[in-house]
Amino acid sequence: MDTTLQFATYPGLDDRIIVLRAADEVDAVFIRTARFNILVDTLATPALCRQALDLLSEQIRDRPLLVVNSHMDWDHFWGNATLGPYVPIFAHEKALERLRDPAALRTLSEKKQERRFAAVELVAPTITFAGETVTLHGGDLSLDLIHTPGHTPDHVAVWIPEIRTCLAVDAVEHPIPEVWSSDPADLCALVASLKRIRDLQADYVVLAHGQSADPAVVDANLRYFTGLRDRVADLSETELDVVGLVEREGLRLQDFLTVPEAMQAETRAFYERCHQSNLAAVLAARKARIDVVAEATDG
Ligand SMILES: [Zn+2]
Repeated sequence: MDTTLQFATYPGLDDRIIVLRAADEVDAVFIRTARFNILVDTLATPALCRQALDLLSEQIRDRPLLVVNSHMDWDHFWGNATLGPYVPIFAHEKALERLRDPAALRTLSEKKQERRFAAVELVAPTITFAGETVTLHGGDLSLDLIHTPGHTPDHVAVWIPEIRTCLAVDAVEHPIPEVWSSDPADLCALVASLKRIRDLQADYVVLAHGQSADPAVVDANLRYFTGLRDRVADLSETELDVVGLVEREGLRLQDFLTVPEAMQAETRAFYERCHQSNLAAVLAARKARIDVVAEATDG
């Protein structure tokens, strides 16, 4: 059974933006511009996306709806089937590669054992871009879709310069984002994406997980990766292959940041796993003599 979707916002956030919150699972974002409405992400199931469209029925009646898929992770786009064939869905070109990968169907068949995912169909984006950015000109607001890989190869964040708001989705995460793989190139890409978002100097950095719009999270994420790089740099060559480094004092998640006390055990376990993936990537980078923080430059 899906949770009940709710509207959410942050103090001072422009009222043309509505956060759609599916409990602790994920936030999607609705933006109303003079020319069109935009939904950034369609949540984890068609039923949740239906709830979103119903809640927004007043707002979406009088102008076209465009959808952005930030990336092809299940919690962000499995609601696509609800949109029907006439709603354009924007994404980065790499999203199509991810959909073609057998892993997409594998995740679906695994998750379909849970009843709420039984009706999910994989629906692909219909408009893709291959470069760094594309801009949707809404009249009063413009939306720059910015390719921000690293968490996933296809990840897109949305920058709205008129109101200095960045929808960072999963490129920034509280307490930490997770890198795509242990390939140092992915870690460099993630750190570069964090720097790129930091350099926007946004007043609001809206996350999809962690229920925050505080730009300080971007700096905290960068400090985390810098700290991880520094601790791994202090290890000797022989220590790099020691099993279970993630449990060693100085390399555990809690050695880099304070994990909120109220965090549920399941969520904590999830971020422990993210930390483990990040550590594996930093270790691989050290072995390849790549300084992931110094080498991560945007563009
Ligand atoms: Zn996510």
